[in-house]
Amino acid sequence: MSDCIFCKIAAGEIPANKLYESENFIVFLDISPANKGHALIVPKIHVQSLTELPEYVAQEFGELQLKVSKAIMQATKAEGFNLLLNDGKAAGQEVMHAHMHIMPRFSTDDFHFKWTHKKYSDGEMQEYFERIKRNL
Ligand code: 5GP
Ligand code: ZN
Repeated sequence: MSDCIFCKIAAGEIPANKLYESENFIVFLDISPANKGHALIVPKIHVQSLTELPEYVAQEFGELQLKVSKAIMQATKAEGFNLLLNDGKAAGQEVMHAHMHIMPRFSTDDFHFKWTHKKYSDGEMQEYFERIKRNL
């Protein structure tokens, strides 16, 4: 897509610290990291949502997450890492080209995921369970 920043990075029109490149993916450092070494795994094909990713590309996506996470852990001496995929505006996606964040984490860092834990009413959990299962 012509006005998409990640398509431009994939095409080499905008510079990025490319850590890895294959036929279907690029991996580069996030310009505004949660912690230093925070990287993004980006499919070259322009899709907004992970759910639109062709299956043959999705398989490589899984393998790359593991490969890059290991490299980041070793390079940054992080104590942990988060994989984060913001899919859709409601989920906080700002760049509308699907991407996975890999964020090295330290027990002393200032990054917190916080949400309030909701409660199911009587029978509601079973309802959700069945509804989701039917769609698998
Ligand atoms: P989102 O909220 O869409 O999941 O995250 C988009 C991420 O892309 C942000 O963490 C942001 O710092 C990163 N980003 C946005 N523009 C650029 C850019 O031009 N270069 C790089 N390397 N990262 C970018
Ligand atoms: Zn794009």
